[in-house]
Amino acid sequence: MKGLLAVFDNHFHLRQDGLFLEAVRRFQKEGGTCINLTNLPNYALPAEGYYTRIYEETIQMAKIIRRSTPVKVIVTLGPYPLDYFFFRDSGMDPLGKMQNGLEVLRPYLQSGEAVAIGEVGRPHFQVSEKEYEDGTRIIQEAMVLARDEGCPVVLHTEDLKCGDLEKLGDAARRIGLRQEMVVKHHSDPENLSCNVRILHSILATRTNVRKASESVKDFLLESDYVDDPQKPGKVIAPESVPRRAKMIMQENDDWERILHASFVDLPGKLYGIERIA
Ligand SMILES: [Zn+2]
Repeated sequence: MKGLLAVFDNHFHLRQDGLFLEAVRRFQKEGGTCINLTNLPNYALPAEGYYTRIYEETIQMAKIIRRSTPVKVIVTLGPYPLDYFFFRDSGMDPLGKMQNGLEVLRPYLQSGEAVAIGEVGRPHFQVSEKEYEDGTRIIQEAMVLARDEGCPVVLHTEDLKCGDLEKLGDAARRIGLRQEMVVKHHSDPENLSCNVRILHSILATRTNVRKASESVKDFLLESDYVDDPQKPGKVIAPESVPRRAKMIMQENDDWERILHASFVDLPGKLYGIERIA
């Protein structure tokens, strides 16, 4: 897109049996240049060896995209919050399995095949106290891994208020992870006013983007595209981020500041600018 070094979608899922490359080409056609590919759960797979399989498949897809399109891809891997119920229903220890999901991730971070941990955290719906605590424990352990490997952690949680974000910020501080290395995925634009240094990744709907653009605080943009052929129309389109970028250009005098922060500055600091632009 004219005048932009990169047009970056911070949260994008793909499946080989979904639209896959077609979704990436649609993103590119609207002006998109880089995606953060995040593993998608697949509960048709056996619970045994689940994470290695999911991680390998995601890395494989990233390689195919790089080979087949000019779109840049970075990879975020981690145990998805709802995996908890998958393991529990398979008669396994869910917390232990997800902790193992973090452990087997380490070599991928060290090799650079993955550049961030996520999406980790808690289910977006009401859960029991035990389930909530286990999710919080995964967040903390992911923060420890992020600190040790010098990478960001992407959080998936229930809707948060400023107080909840402050708690997460405190957890990061105690662990010794900079708050700027914590990204709240699916963040409410309202939360841009919270007094935290945790970064906000905003779902690229028109309403959200208009609200977020009024804030002085910088934010990332994401489609959270879910490449599920069973649920067409239920998800936001793969080209949503480049479309919203055009909208921001049309509607905001300071579009350059907004888009530079969203597509270059923040992702550069998080993942390394050479991987983005
Ligand atoms: Zn997601």
